[in-house]
Amino acid sequence: MEFTGKTALVTGAAGGIGASLVQRLRAAGARVAVADRSVDGIDAEVHLPGDLLDPTYADALPAKAAEALGSLDIVVNNAGVITRGAVTATSDDDWALSLGVNVEAPFRICRAAIPIMAAAGGGAIVNTASCWGLRPGPDHAIYCMTKAAIASLTQCMGQDHAHQGIRINAVCPNEVNTPMLRSGFAKRGFDPDTAVAELGKSVPLGRIAEPADIADVILFLVSDAARYMCGALVEVNGGKPVQ
Ligand code: NAD
Repeated sequence: MEFTGKTALVTGAAGGIGASLVQRLRAAGARVAVADRSVDGIDAEVHLPGDLLDPTYADALPAKAAEALGSLDIVVNNAGVITRGAVTATSDDDWALSLGVNVEAPFRICRAAIPIMAAAGGGAIVNTASCWGLRPGPDHAIYCMTKAAIASLTQCMGQDHAHQGIRINAVCPNEVNTPMLRSGFAKRGFDPDTAVAELGKSVPLGRIAEPADIADVILFLVSDAARYMCGALVEVNGGKPVQ
């Protein structure tokens, strides 16, 4: 896939999937603006650090990226947080954090990016949902709900903005070997390497996903090869769908 001359904004660029995606987009010729709480040390053309819980920051990101890059062809809303527990174990803070990062920030960024892309004749947006947004797993009620919300919003936006030449799709990974998954294991007292290897045995392909496995699917979705895809929820699960 060839992205020479293309410009992209990636949120969560310091995380597992985000870092791999930025590296791959740039290797394929794109110029990239990276957003995360800290973007120190990330190789990219534009650095836009900030907290996605700040509505002013999220609202302004697409325009800032477009201004600094000269255009904005691609947006990937990849940042996310996971909170564990049933509804009865969910604090107000967990609720606000999960909704804020996983739903409100992508909403704000899409709302701001779409007019910029429409004025330029089109663009591509990918939101990172999850298998758990399609079929919820146990003990992560609010996380699953936020991923279902962003999946639904993606389907709606995919329909509503196709006529402007803007393709909006979502990637829905199952387990990925990133800091998000590994820190969850560590918090629960498991050795992350052992837990990742154990979990891999439950996947028909024999391993959980590496960040690049997901980044490559995102690359496809924002590329011309996916030119007829709008509002799709693309599950990436190594043969292990959530039941
Ligand atoms: P990660 O924790 O490695 O990366 C997430 C990034 O988002 C981090 O760099 C973090 O700093 C950033 N972020 C979080 N809150 C932020 C905020 N308030 N402001 C700015 N940035 C913020 O996790 P990852 O696994 O690479 O996750 C990427 C996406 O993939 C997430 O949306 C996640 O929900 C989704 N996902 C992950 C898995 C998995 O198993 N790892 C499975 C399905 C979906």
